[in-house]
Amino acid sequence: MVKKFGETTVLQGLNFQIGRGDRVTLIGPSGSGKTTILRLLMTLEDLTDGYIYVDGQPLTHEERGGKRVALKPKQVSKIRKRIGMVFQQFNLFPNMTVLENIIEAPIHVLGQSSDQAKTKAQELLDRVGLGNRGDAHPMQLSGGQQQRVAIARALAMDPEILLLDEVTSALDPELVGDVLGVLQDVAATTDITMLIVTHEMQFAQDVSDRVMMFDGGRIIEEGHPDKIFSDPDNERTKQFLQAVL
Ligand code: ATP
Repeated sequence: MVKKFGETTVLQGLNFQIGRGDRVTLIGPSGSGKTTILRLLMTLEDLTDGYIYVDGQPLTHEERGGKRVALKPKQVSKIRKRIGMVFQQFNLFPNMTVLENIIEAPIHVLGQSSDQAKTKAQELLDRVGLGNRGDAHPMQLSGGQQQRVAIARALAMDPEILLLDEVTSALDPELVGDVLGVLQDVAATTDITMLIVTHEMQFAQDVSDRVMMFDGGRIIEEGHPDKIFSDPDNERTKQFLQAVL
């Protein structure tokens, strides 16, 4: 795949596969393209060239008669529904309660009844340790609590793939542990495929079974976290890890 912003090529000739149920962490210096990959998968950015397939099905474009053809919005949204994302800045709807935030998409996108969506939302709030905060508004919660609501909101869509974009970077240090704990629980108790961009290297090591090191829009090294974090082959990976560990 190729992604350009104007004349600037951010991702070039990138080609990778993620297996069902894999937990993959993307690491690399600022500006190396990690967030852009997640945003492309979420169809929040247009792919400049190339293709993305989910379970063998094209996400935004397909090859037809040797040509690259954009899919219709309906086709795109059908597959996109299977992907959930949690953002650095939570992105909760500020004018809705916590419960309303969680049930919005299940009702309007999946067509669930209000009762069905509320029951599921309550289960998820219990799971992220916020069972009694359904009536609160996001602003009444701490950043860590808001992020746990955002995780519950993503899970309410029953995603097959969950994209986590630096979900603890905007949090005070003492709130990071609770959020990572919730994600560790999700990883341990579901078979959701997870793509994680994080600077929390211990978390990356605990939760992922593969680490991809990015530099300049390319994967320069990948492997099991035990290997990458303790004995990377690539000089650039060594430098990067020395700086962040
Ligand atoms: P960070 O760790 O700082 O978030 P990253 O590896 O996630 O970095 P990206 O956010 O994917 O990197 O950005 C990759 C490159 O694309 C950067 O050079 C960035 O400035 C550029 N970029 C990202 N979004 C846009 C945009 N909307 N318009 C123009 N350039 C952009």
